[in-house]
Amino acid sequence: MRKYVLSNKFNILVLAAVVLASVFVFAGGVAEQPAVACLKPSKPAVNQTVETVHIPVIMYHSVKDKNKGKYIVGPATFEADILHIKQKGYTPIVVADLIAWQAGKKDLPPKPIMLTLDDGQKDNYFNAFPILKKHNTKAIISVIGKTIDENYLPANASAQGEKYQQASEQQTQKLKKRSGMAHLCYEQIKEMADSGFVEIQNHSYNMHSARPRLGMKKKHNESYECYKKALEADLMRLQTNLTQRAGVTPTAVIFPFGEITQKYTTRALKELGFKASFTCYNGINKLTKNSCLHELKRYNRPHGISTEAFFNKIFSQVEKSKAEKN
Ligand SMILES: [Zn+2]
Repeated sequence: MRKYVLSNKFNILVLAAVVLASVFVFAGGVAEQPAVACLKPSKPAVNQTVETVHIPVIMYHSVKDKNKGKYIVGPATFEADILHIKQKGYTPIVVADLIAWQAGKKDLPPKPIMLTLDDGQKDNYFNAFPILKKHNTKAIISVIGKTIDENYLPANASAQGEKYQQASEQQTQKLKKRSGMAHLCYEQIKEMADSGFVEIQNHSYNMHSARPRLGMKKKHNESYECYKKALEADLMRLQTNLTQRAGVTPTAVIFPFGEITQKYTTRALKELGFKASFTCYNGINKLTKNSCLHELKRYNRPHGISTEAFFNKIFSQVEKSKAEKN
């Protein structure tokens, strides 16, 4: 009897459940999501591809005490900047770090920043490099091919015979020691790159001028094919020299004067295999693992502004960028 009552109650419960389920399905409640959907492996809650980083890039040129100005800061300022950056929790990274992060091979530090030094002035080796090493800090130095080659005089020595070559080598050694020598030589570039603190990038072989085109801008009426060929001839000359003589192959281009021709310059650089490029436009770079790394923005660091004032403004821009919707 007791058994019957239990069984009867059970039947009533089952009937109620069936009626309820039928009503729910009829009303469209779960009809669109069959139970089998729950059995499919679910994706991780955090999609790695939408992780966004907000990176400021700082643009330096010369680091020396003479003629300080818009493009020259003193070594003391450069060192104070690095100490301040670190104190605020930022970590300088280079292009290789960004590429590795996008490939899923490496994590980025919580607050990444990039320090770039344009033009390959010799003071980068004598003044900036020791500071980078001292504070275990990475930076990007972009060099101009023609100015490097001018350190090795005369250019046609090999055509002049062995005796002439020896004399020229002695002259080159003298030039390297001479304080008047303006730009880095391949030996210094190699030493800095080998240290792991400096990433060398391409600032053109001979496009750091206003003529025949302004920097890397496309000439008026020049076809895309001709323009790309001109960029290729120039940039690859420096790529080859750096690979052969300093053991480094740049992955990025720093536009001379920040000049580009919209749509054409980046297209050509991508086709030539460059992974990143840097402009002179101000702004924070919002990047995901899928972002294009071309036309990155930078802030010029002039002499005459305190470290705190210069970086507080930039770091507040980073916070503003983080607060904006992606
Ligand atoms: Zn430059």
